[in-house]
Formats: sequence, C-alpha cells, structure tokens
Amino acid sequence: MCGIIGAIHMKGNVAPLLRKSLKRLEYRGYDSSGIATAANGVIFIKKDKGKIDEIHQQINFDTLPGSIGIGHTRWATHGPPSKLNAHPHTDCYDRIAVVHNGIIENYQELRQILLEGGHQFRSQTDTEVIPHLIEDALNHTSRLENAVARVLPKLEGSYAIVVLEAKGNELVCARKESPLVIGLGQRGIYCASDVPAFLPMTRKTIVLEDNELVHLTANGALLTRLDENGSPTRLPLRIPTEVQWTIDMAQKGGYPHFMLKEIHEQPTAIRDTLRMKKSDFENFADVLHNHKKVITVAAGTSYHATLAAKYMFSQISNFLVHDVIASEGTDTVASSLGEDTAVLAVTQSGETVDTLHAVKHLKKQGSTVLAITNTVGSSITRMADHVVYTQAGPEIGVAATKTFATQLATLASLSTYLGVLTGAQTIKEKNELLAALNQFPELIEIIIRNQENAIKDASQEYITRSNFFFLGRGISTATALEGALKIKEIAYVHAEGYPAGESKHGPIALVEPGFPIVFVAPNDKTRRHLEGNVMEMKARGAQIISICSAQDTTLINLSDHAISLPPLPSILFSPICYVVPLQLLAYYAAILRGHNPDQPRNLAKAVTVL
Ligand code: GLU
Repeated sequence: MCGIIGAIHMKGNVAPLLRKSLKRLEYRGYDSSGIATAANGVIFIKKDKGKIDEIHQQINFDTLPGSIGIGHTRWATHGPPSKLNAHPHTDCYDRIAVVHNGIIENYQELRQILLEGGHQFRSQTDTEVIPHLIEDALNHTSRLENAVARVLPKLEGSYAIVVLEAKGNELVCARKESPLVIGLGQRGIYCASDVPAFLPMTRKTIVLEDNELVHLTANGALLTRLDENGSPTRLPLRIPTEVQWTIDMAQKGGYPHFMLKEIHEQPTAIRDTLRMKKSDFENFADVLHNHKKVITVAAGTSYHATLAAKYMFSQISNFLVHDVIASEGTDTVASSLGEDTAVLAVTQSGETVDTLHAVKHLKKQGSTVLAITNTVGSSITRMADHVVYTQAGPEIGVAATKTFATQLATLASLSTYLGVLTGAQTIKEKNELLAALNQFPELIEIIIRNQENAIKDASQEYITRSNFFFLGRGISTATALEGALKIKEIAYVHAEGYPAGESKHGPIALVEPGFPIVFVAPNDKTRRHLEGNVMEMKARGAQIISICSAQDTTLINLSDHAISLPPLPSILFSPICYVVPLQLLAYYAAILRGHNPDQPRNLAKAVTVL
C-alpha cells in the first residue's frame, strides 16, 4: 500500500501541489517519498527515504520545474526503504517515470528478460520493470497510451500506476486491484490512490475500475477498458461524483476511525498476503522441518497469532512448536536452545523490542531465525536469516486488526506446506486447504456485511458491564485471548481470555447473574465439549454471547446473544473469521464508552522498550 498522485496544472509549477498532495496521502505509507516532473523535454526527479516533510527540508521538492508531474509515498514491499528504491522509477534513458502502488508478482522473470535485453536496473523494487517495459513498447508505438496498454497484460499481481513521459504533455494511469481515482478540477486534472490527494483542488471524482486506463491531458481525460489480452475499447467518461467528505474523513475512506477502516480492509489484506511467492513458504517450511526444536516468539496480538499457529501446525502439519512470549524468551527456554533450534518470530512492526531482544539472544546461541513481519527494512528483517512479509499495508490504528489477519493467513498457509514435508498432507490435500484458505477473504466480507449491526446492538446492551470472559477451546483459545485483548486495549473494559475447559479451575468463581461471557464456538471438534462449559456458566446466571456457526441452532438457542457466521470451507483456520466479530465488538464498545479507538491510552503502535 502507498499513495500515488499524478497532476497536470493549468498554470505554474506543479511540484508544491504534488508535495502537499503526498502529505495528505502519507497515512497510506511513509517510508520514502519522491516526485518527478517534466519540463522542456526532460524529467526531473527528487526522492529519498524518510517522511515527506523531512525530505522536503533537505532537498526542497518545490523547485522542480514544470506543470505536469507524479508523486509517491512508499510502503516498501520489494527492497528496503532507500533513496534508490524510492519511486518514481525510470527507464534506461530517463524518458519515462512511473509511480506504482501494488505488487508485480512476476517481476523477477520480467527483470531477467529485460536484463538479457540490455536494460539497466537501479533499484531492487518490483516496480522498476514497468518503465523498462514501457521503454521497449515505445519502440513499437509512438503513443504513450498504447505503449502502456501493451505492457499491462504482461504484469501479474496488483497495480495502480501513473506514467509520465519526458515530452511532458500527458499522463497515463491504470489500475488492477489497487485503488485509483481521477479528479477533474477547474485549474487542473489529477489521478491519485485516494481522494484526499486532490480534495482541496476538486471534489469531482471518477473511481476507476480494474483494467481501466486513463489518458490525461490539460484538455481532459479519455477512458479505455482493456480486455485480458490488452485489447483496448474506448469508453465514454463516466459522470464525476461530487465527494462531500472532509480531508480527515477521506483519509479514513469515509469511516469514522482508522480501526474500523482497517477491520474492513482485512479481506484485501489477506488476499494480498496470500499472493506471496510459493517458494517463500516452501523455504520457511523447509527450515522449520530441518530443525530439531522450533519455537515461536512474539508479543501482544502477534503472540496470539503464534498461539493459533501452534494449533494449526499440530493439526495440519503434525508438527510441534513451543510458543514463547517474547518478553519471557530469554528467561524461560533460551538456555535449552541452540543450533538445533529454529525461531519463528512474528512482529507486525518488526521493531518490537521484546521480540528483537529474544531473537538476538537466541541468534547468539546459534539458532536460525525466521521472521514474519509487515514492515520491509525493519530491524527484525536485518536480524533474521529468512523473512516472509505480510501484505497488510500500513496499519494506523494502534490496536492490531488487519495485521493479525495477515499473520494468521501466513501461518495458515505455512502450516499446509509444512504438512507436506512431515507427510501429514498430500500435495492434493495441501492444495485443497489452500483453496479453502483463499475463500476466507470473501467470508469476512459476508460476516461484516451481515453482522456489523447485530454486533453494534450487542455492544449497546453490554455497555455498562465492567468485566467479561472470552472463552474458547483448542485454536479458539487464541481467538478468545485476542478478543479479550482488543476490548481491554481500546474500550478499557476488564476482560479475561481463557481456555474454556480451564475456566472451571478458578475463573468461574467470579461468575454471578448477568456476568457476560463471550464463547468462541466454531463447529470444530471442540464444539461438543464447549457446550458443557456454556451450561456450567449458564447455571450460574452468566449471560452468554456466542460467536458460532449459523447452523448451530443448539448453541444459538442457549445464548442470550448469538453472532452467527457462515459455514467455513476449512474449520482449521477458524480464527481468521471468528476474530472479526470480536474486533467489531471491541470497536463499538470503545465508541459507546466515548473512547478514541485509534489512539488508546498508554499504548504505542510499536513497543520499543523492554
Ligand atoms: N511494490 C512497490 C515497492 O516496493 C510499491 C509498494 C507500494 O505500494 O508502496 O516499491
């Protein structure tokens, strides 16, 4: 995820406008920024690593000449944040500049072909293949629009791009699975990842659809649809919509808070994550399989993802891992680990000091480190021997939601590859599990669509309660722990997540009439025993809120409130869907109590103290 902008200004230099637009897009990504403009047949570029204001102070973007240009604020996916990896990227002769949001999955193959054709690359990004491909395509057509149309069918993956040519009289933009909107103003014409980029200049917007390409000049926009072979059909330009949002609302995509936006973004985040290279998973699985001992190390929500992984690795891969809370890592098991150990560290920011500290310690003892993180170039990636990136994009809400979803999806996927190595899964079974996993994003969409209002109502009913239990069995223990953590973090409600079976060994003493208990109850093999736990709590007057299958009429009838979910194509990955109602429950509990869920007190997004 990142922010891109293209602008043609009717009068005066466009660079200050591009810089301010990027600033308004910075919430989409902020590890590096760059601007390219064209004037007198030359492309001018300024770019660097860092936040836009810091870079601007040092290199002053505003002096770039010309009334046409493109800009980018990056969230690295391929290649760490650096000046060379910052966008815009150019062809061999600096005739073409491109900004890109998304991931080109087949970039290595394309890069190899281009290198063999004599092209020279300057960055490690996937993006850089695009300007070089356009350079080649311009040998067959003199029109930029046609050249871009020839290139797009070669790109696998996701993209929103804006292309600038040195001639400097036109921009070409296109999208597939990454957002792009056109803005039509009195004094300029724009395209961007998101409306805030051009909101002060115009409210008239046209949202582009997948496989659409737009040719922008000072005279207006021409819309083209490409079929799968890249054959173009010119379409009449759609009538622009007048957006009513403020900039703040637009940055949150119209949602009142980033957290809610990010909960809704989970399907996209999982889809992007599952697009990762098969070879990355195979490599990870191989390393895990080749070690005698395997531990996971993580903190907070990431720890809950590793706990879920422990169950998935056991049930799907017949593979035992020991889960370690990062801050305990050096004090508990470290002395019994060494070269025979693989450490699977999970951290969204890649900067969680507890995790880094444990990993460093174990690495010193000779262990091999694998990391799963959402942040390219973060400290963990420099320590780890192998890294897999989740593709959640920047998460602004302090309480993790979409990064958790992508960690679960990554670990779920990994468990299937590991299962093949241990012999627990045939290749066919692994593929079936992966096919099932790929259906989860759509299920989350359905769950949110069908249940958000019911969850809001439930939050209303329980608003005055100051204690909750979240109970589950098996893998749902991880889900329950995460549900309890979310409501603690943002609604400041005391909640305990507990294995349901264990709850009778102590916690049940707290239950009195009206005590709310959330049961996480997917229809897996724990479901039968869970019913006993529900009955125990009901017998003491607890109010039961179940998150269960829509087909589970028994539990629905036993519950005071039931949030029912569609049947899952594989119950083994249940936390990916079952955590969603719990995230929404915490969100609405926070709102009803008057708290800002994006910035909970006493917490930080990346915890960088021991
Ligand atoms: N994949 C591109 C990169 O790593 C674009 C990332 C983005 O969307 O910011 O540079």
